[in-house]
Amino acid sequence: MPIQANLFVSEEAVPASKRKRPIKAVVTDLDGTLYSWVDYIVPALEAMVCSLESTTSMPRIRIVQSLKEVYEKYGTNEYAFAIQESKIFHEFNYDFDSFNALIIWPARRAFSEMRRRYLRPYRGVVEGLTGLVERGVKVVGLTDAPRGSAERRLKQLGLDSYFDALYALEGFPVPDLVDEQVKEREKAGYYRSAVPKVVELPSSAEKPSPRGLEQILQDLEFHPEEVMMVGDNIRKDMAAAAEAGVMGVWAEYGTYVPPEYRVRLDIISARAVTRKNVADETCEQLEEPEFAISNFGRILKIIDGRSG
Ligand SMILES: [Mg+2]
Repeated sequence: MPIQANLFVSEEAVPASKRKRPIKAVVTDLDGTLYSWVDYIVPALEAMVCSLESTTSMPRIRIVQSLKEVYEKYGTNEYAFAIQESKIFHEFNYDFDSFNALIIWPARRAFSEMRRRYLRPYRGVVEGLTGLVERGVKVVGLTDAPRGSAERRLKQLGLDSYFDALYALEGFPVPDLVDEQVKEREKAGYYRSAVPKVVELPSSAEKPSPRGLEQILQDLEFHPEEVMMVGDNIRKDMAAAAEAGVMGVWAEYGTYVPPEYRVRLDIISARAVTRKNVADETCEQLEEPEFAISNFGRILKIIDGRSG
């Protein structure tokens, strides 16, 4: 008998209960999985603080602490109206036009310039997303970032067109004290992405809660076995996947943050916000998930392997 005949097991020989279904949707985390959040947020916040220092002549420490208070309150370092909400700048509010032109806009420009320069997709992300679309696999984002920040980042990276849906935490309304141009742009949808379906989740759905993932399964009407969750954070992404019965793929490449950036981030970012955005897999021994990848594009191999 030819030896090769024994190397293949026909699908019929595998009991139906043991067969894995093909992957129909990939749910992916955004920060630290599709791009490095730290690589752009650190220079962007530092540039903004530098601008505020030079336009107001206030001490850096007061500016940083006042901004951190606002970031802590909103749970994000990208709350777009942090300057006008910071207590130390309230004295300028009585004439918003000059405050806006001389202090807010230069600071926003400094932030945006650094974001434009340093926000980049990780290697393999575009190839991975393209491969998913070619295979007819749905792409869904699940992030703990607020809706506005998440949409803007995907749009700026040019990745929004690959996504079928995005599930993010609740966004924030535009406050009254804001530039007219910002209000008009917001009304015209200028800050929105091309993702066709965007769902806002309550803060209680923050990962590791499986709530967001469970809602995605329900909305897509897919069995948990037909879905893969990719994320850089073992404690959050992989825990949510396990809880929802979904295959977890650990984006290990996203966990490497240079120590110098961690130190600079601690100075300018509220601790709660850093914890939300940066996976810290260094302080204790964690059990590694079954699948770990060094490049986002590797998910295609896993998916193709599953399809046989
Ligand atoms: Mg992440």
